[in-house]
Amino acid sequence: MCMTCNTLLDRLIAEEILVETGIDGLYGRSGKFEDVLLRFDALISRFGDDQKADVIRFPPGMNRALFEKSGYLKSFPDLAGTVHSFAGNDKDHASLLETLEGGGDWTAGQKATDIVLAPAACYPLYPVVARKGKLPAQGRVYDLNSYCFRREPSKDPARMQMFRMREYVRMGTPDEVMAFRQSWMDRGQELIASVGLPVAIDVANDPFFGRAGRMLSNNQRDQNLKFELLVPVTSTEKPTACLSFNYHQDHFGKTWGLTTADGEVAHTACVGFGLERVALALFAHHGLDTGSWPAGVRKVLWG
Ligand code: AMP
Ligand code: ZN
Repeated sequence: MCMTCNTLLDRLIAEEILVETGIDGLYGRSGKFEDVLLRFDALISRFGDDQKADVIRFPPGMNRALFEKSGYLKSFPDLAGTVHSFAGNDKDHASLLETLEGGGDWTAGQKATDIVLAPAACYPLYPVVARKGKLPAQGRVYDLNSYCFRREPSKDPARMQMFRMREYVRMGTPDEVMAFRQSWMDRGQELIASVGLPVAIDVANDPFFGRAGRMLSNNQRDQNLKFELLVPVTSTEKPTACLSFNYHQDHFGKTWGLTTADGEVAHTACVGFGLERVALALFAHHGLDTGSWPAGVRKVLWG
């Protein structure tokens, strides 16, 4: 037991459940942490079995041109991460090493590549589906899981810069998409309660950037476009959003030319599970020793 550890993050690091890298929000995961996270991920699959979802696993990088077209930079320029790389000749290489040696900024010579980091698991999906033509009758459901990047360094272990997001994404008519979201708001609460965590659902907004962002946030709230399932992780007063239920209306449908079988602009919604956040909530509530977690919780996760 670490006697000087005050915060959950300190305790997780002292017990080697998370591994420090020297960067806030960037951690190594121990076998114990991964075991919990993957078992919760498998539990999601059990709850989502009836969705008959198409499974796609995108890498954590996405096509930059498609990212630009998605509109992400209009709303969250501060959170985006780009992949840069060396693209010079021998002379440039020598100069890079010299700059590095002198403690200068060697990154100044890096060039943006055609890859950016995925900000959410569903961003790479919409253009890929739109390319396939009209949706079939009854639309489609996809099952995604990807490491995501958001530039939001923090000492709060629940606010990472690189984390995994599991998602189910629904594309179809407004009615189909709304029914999907409602069903996942119900299942989400059941799922979280089944692992012994307290749940609350509230209307929410994304952290839109700048002055114009305030209007977008208000709009999103007024129209009930985003709900979050909140669980206390590091604070009881300010519980953490562990699941999100987003209704995009026809935003992605219009952006990507996604149409229903009837030729209408498709509506979309997604449910996103923050896998690290749920794992952290489990450690925070049930303790760092998974062997002493309540029998009921152990049974649900480990069978
Ligand atoms: P969002 O697209 O913001 O609704 O995110 C979907 C889910 O990802 C949220 O409900 C969180 O559980 C999780 N998430 C979002 N941001 C972070 C972060 N910085 N660190 C860890 N998990 C996150
Ligand atoms: Zn999504």
